[in-house]
Amino acid sequence: MLQPKAVIEHSLFIDGAYVPARSGRMFEKISPVTGEVMARVHEAGREDVDHAVRAAKAALKGPWGKLTVAERAGLLQDLSREINARFDDFLEAEVADTGKPKSLARLVDIPRGGANFATFADMIKNLGSEFFETATPDGGKAINYGTYRPKGVIAVISPWNLPLLLMTWKVGPALACGNTVVVKPSEITPASATLLGEVMNAVGIPKGVYNVIHGFGPDSAGEFLTQHPLVDGITFTGETQTGEAIMKQAAVGLRDISFELGGKNAAIVFDDADLDKAVAGTMQSVFSNCGQVCLGTERVYVQRPVYDEFVARLKQSAEGLVLGGPDHPGVGIGPLISEEHREKVLSYYRLAAEEGATVVTGGGVPELGDDRDRGFFVQPTIWSGLPETSRIVREEIFGPCCHVQPFDTEDEVIALANDNDYGLACALWTQDISRAHRVAPQIEVGLVWVNSWFLRDLRTAFGGSKKSGIGREGGEHSLEFYTERANICVKL
Ligand code: NAD
Repeated sequence: MLQPKAVIEHSLFIDGAYVPARSGRMFEKISPVTGEVMARVHEAGREDVDHAVRAAKAALKGPWGKLTVAERAGLLQDLSREINARFDDFLEAEVADTGKPKSLARLVDIPRGGANFATFADMIKNLGSEFFETATPDGGKAINYGTYRPKGVIAVISPWNLPLLLMTWKVGPALACGNTVVVKPSEITPASATLLGEVMNAVGIPKGVYNVIHGFGPDSAGEFLTQHPLVDGITFTGETQTGEAIMKQAAVGLRDISFELGGKNAAIVFDDADLDKAVAGTMQSVFSNCGQVCLGTERVYVQRPVYDEFVARLKQSAEGLVLGGPDHPGVGIGPLISEEHREKVLSYYRLAAEEGATVVTGGGVPELGDDRDRGFFVQPTIWSGLPETSRIVREEIFGPCCHVQPFDTEDEVIALANDNDYGLACALWTQDISRAHRVAPQIEVGLVWVNSWFLRDLRTAFGGSKKSGIGREGGEHSLEFYTERANICVKL
């Protein structure tokens, strides 16, 4: 039997201290595994957001702003070490909020939380500068060199699917470049951002550098933060529609933005692919984190000679997935994040039936006959037979599901993959090296994987094209958003 756990409380973290919301408002966080209230969260009002942003602004001029790059990088390395030292605390916080399998969070979410600080510490320490010698009209010369300075107060607005990983992916480079941050984690996953405040204090990050406010988007903490005139830049990961709303707020005062948004990613399986690897990789890209990964596959195109075999093997593997909470024996897939999100995913399951899809497997809510029936589970689902114009094939669902479709030629599948409003990621499965290099650059996305998925080197550019994002982050690409560049020209 699942035992009810004590309800915990998450306060705000402002100016180096945990504080209650001055708004006096609280909201409830529901467990995706049990459907019960597991936490009460302080909701920041306008005054709380102002408190956090002013603390962040003041910190720019305090001890933080006087550190050398080496000292800042050292602190970031300490953050990485401290997250790893408190690995189990972060693991508990993350799986309690998300319901994801512990095995997944242990492998991906928590290590990446630490790595995001270590990577950007290395990046900033090893950063060079551009240099040009210029002939001058009087026959002499000048030298030009580039410098960087922090942008200022960065608003970090993050989603619920990989809470620690995606939040630190932004806080890491922001701090490496000398900025201060106000983080607004998703209202559905407040725990790990709150816990990170303890780590900041433990390693001696000056107060006001890292602040956390909780709340919702519209008419709540998210909107109050993006509207605050002292915020210098907004980095956001979440839905494309939310990005549009934030962009309007950012226009006031001409604040810079960096957006990582939705996706409707394709996987392409050619007939020469290693099918064992293609099936295993597609299982991961479709079902990992219960399909709640922006980079996840929701459209699978398979070349006709291997279509039947591939679909049969994918179906068999999907039907073998064990559904369960974080500690469930052999768990492969957890619940969806919330009842509301399950309703959204199920509305697509119903739509697939209305649109006339063939259900290869799944399509509903599982009846597990035990405590798991209290959680927000849906069946891993595969459809086929829909036209490319159907909403199932065009819209992001963000659940454990995909549509499979046969194709004949390379040109045809490139056109199919590109025929979408989103442009985030694509996975190609082929053993023909020339084909891989020929096809990959023609896919209109920010990230292409060949014979792999989610393999990340944090120094590389990350981001999406079309409606999947604006800007690139990762390694030195992050400088574009997190710094202001200046050119110094010296006449000799
Ligand atoms: P969401 O857009 O609903 O919420 C994201 C964050 O924005 C939350 O903190 C939310 O409170 C806040 N927010 C909502 N409205 C706001 C407003 N008007 N002003 C300011 N803040 C506001 O997204 P979600 O449901 O949490 O996350 C899922 C989405 O995120 C999916 O579309 C997924 O594809 C996308 N995502 C993209 C990436 C990427 O790297 N491209 C990574 C992960 C998730």
